[in-house]
Amino acid sequence: MQQAPPDAHERFLGSMLGGALGDALGFAVEFHSMDKIRERHGAAGLTEPAPAQEKAEISDDTQMMLFTLEGLIRAHVARRMKPVDNDPVPEVQHAYQRWLHTQGRSWAESAGPYAVHLAEPDGWLITERGLFATRAPGNTCMTALIGFARTHRQASQDNAINDSKGCGGVMRAAPVAVWSHDPAEVFHAAVGVAALTHGHPSGYLSAGVLAVIVHQLIRAVPLPDAVRLARDLLLRWRGHEEQLRSLDAAVELAAEGIVAPERLEERLGGGWVGEEALAIGLYAALAAPDVRDALRLSVNHSGDSDSTGMVCGNIVGALHGDRALPPEWLDVLELREVVTALSQDALVEFSPAPPTNATWSTRYPAW
Ligand SMILES: [Mg+2]
Repeated sequence: MQQAPPDAHERFLGSMLGGALGDALGFAVEFHSMDKIRERHGAAGLTEPAPAQEKAEISDDTQMMLFTLEGLIRAHVARRMKPVDNDPVPEVQHAYQRWLHTQGRSWAESAGPYAVHLAEPDGWLITERGLFATRAPGNTCMTALIGFARTHRQASQDNAINDSKGCGGVMRAAPVAVWSHDPAEVFHAAVGVAALTHGHPSGYLSAGVLAVIVHQLIRAVPLPDAVRLARDLLLRWRGHEEQLRSLDAAVELAAEGIVAPERLEERLGGGWVGEEALAIGLYAALAAPDVRDALRLSVNHSGDSDSTGMVCGNIVGALHGDRALPPEWLDVLELREVVTALSQDALVEFSPAPPTNATWSTRYPAW
């Protein structure tokens, strides 16, 4: 009997869990060359996230994806109270300062302007002790958030904080797919969120493209059409040329099917920068019809495997829904319950009838 196709909720949950799975799979080999990966894991490379009974550790990519989603939920609660406020970026900045606090810094050092109102960080996500783990956090993100705590100045694409196009913007961008029904608004919001830490167009436009692809997949649009729409929106932005070339290269390489890691690196790069991480993750999702194969393809190369795994997982999870994710991989995924709970809360908040009770506003304070 054929299973019903996944609904929008299953696709969103799949995107978040799939991203965390790809991140965890890739984190194990993030700083390893392909030769070293083969030496350690065999000719096929890394094929499973962790031996049974052990946890597959997530990295800063999943941590920041979660804080992005939490910031969006809180921004939406705020928008319900004040509908003219349609900008989620300040709430996401605030959420990132909470993430900074999880990375071994006091709240007073992390909070910047938010310390005025809050002696301690608020909301439930920050109470999850499992998030207080240091997993090779990206320098660009750390430096930008530490800078915000000091200067109180929110960076944007027009007031760039640096010239970085590291993949720290795109790796956390998929949750922005829930922000609006309008894909152009999603693109814009994802750009704003990424530009908090990354000032080069390829650092933030890659985030816009990924968020729109996920947005379309959740609406059951076929992946090639989702990519085409994201590409059309990309063309409207200044400085899109590099991101465009990389996006087109990913689509072209996918026509060759599953290629060797060396070929992937030669055509798409190593994924350390935004446009390449997007290209590798997307290529893997396009080239491999099977979820496991796509995730394996996305992390087995000499580049930034956790972020390319994250992007691939965001896409294949939205494409196939959470039911299609490997159950034995989910069983060992660290923070699986936190990813699931937060994603389900997002679906409730972005539903036609979000909660109005005090428990909800304690969980997701808006101000
Ligand atoms: Mg990482």
